[in-house]
Amino acid sequence: MNDAHSPVIKRPAPKSENLYSVQSRIGRKSRAVQNGHAGGVLWLTGLSASGKSTLALALEQRLFERGYQTYVLDGDNVRQGLNSDLGFSPEDRNENIRRVGEVAALFADSGSIVITAFISPYRADRDLARAAAPGLFHEVYVDASLAACEERDPKGLYSRARRGEIPEFTGVSAPYEEPKAPELVVNTEDASVAESVERLVEYVVERFAAEALEPQAA
Ligand code: ADP
Repeated sequence: MNDAHSPVIKRPAPKSENLYSVQSRIGRKSRAVQNGHAGGVLWLTGLSASGKSTLALALEQRLFERGYQTYVLDGDNVRQGLNSDLGFSPEDRNENIRRVGEVAALFADSGSIVITAFISPYRADRDLARAAAPGLFHEVYVDASLAACEERDPKGLYSRARRGEIPEFTGVSAPYEEPKAPELVVNTEDASVAESVERLVEYVVERFAAEALEPQAA
C-alpha cells in the first residue's frame, strides 16, 4: 500500500509446474457490495503482551455487531492446527508467517476482514504477507515498549524467558524489527483497551467502505 516496503519481496515460485490460475466469476467489488464493506487483512504486529490478541478479539466483536464479515487468526490457535509442525527457530517463524499470510490473503479475497494477531518479528516476513494480498494489506503496529510488556507479562512468559526457560523469546533472546511504515500505529502503552479498540474501529469504518473500491475491481 505504500512504497516503504521492500519491492523485491516476492512470493516464492511454486514447486509444481503446469499450474493454471482459475478466475472466479465473482469480482472483488461484487463481494464488497453484497457485504457492505471491502475485504482485507489487518495485520497486527508487536511484542508479546503488546495487546494484539486483546485488540483482535475486541475488534472482531465490534465489527461483527456492526454486520461485518470478520475473523481472527491468532498465533497460538494456528500453532495448534495448521502450523502444529512449526517451532520458533527463524526458519519456522518464516514458514509460520508465510502460511498465515497466504491464508489471510484468501480470507481477504473472499471479502472478509481478517484480523491477524502474530508477533511476526521479521520485517521481510511481514512484507511477504503483504505481497500475498496486494492492495488489501494493512499493517498495524501494536506499539508498547519492551518494559511495558514485561511489566504486564499476562502469561508470565517474560519472567520465564529471563530465567532462560524459553529460548528464542522475542524481545529477550530473539529480535523484533519494528515496522518502518505501517498503515496504522496503535499505541497501547498510554491508552486504555477501549481507546485502542475505538481507534481500530474508526480505521476500518473509514478504510473498508465498499464505495472506496475502484470500479475496475468488479
Ligand atoms: P499479545 O497478544 O500481543 O501477546 P495480549 O493481548 O495477550 O498481548 O495481552 C496484552 C495485555 O495488555 C492484556 O492483559 C491487556 O489487558 C493489557 N493492555 C493494557 N492496555 C492495553 C491496550 N491499550 N490495548 C491492548 N491491551 C492492553
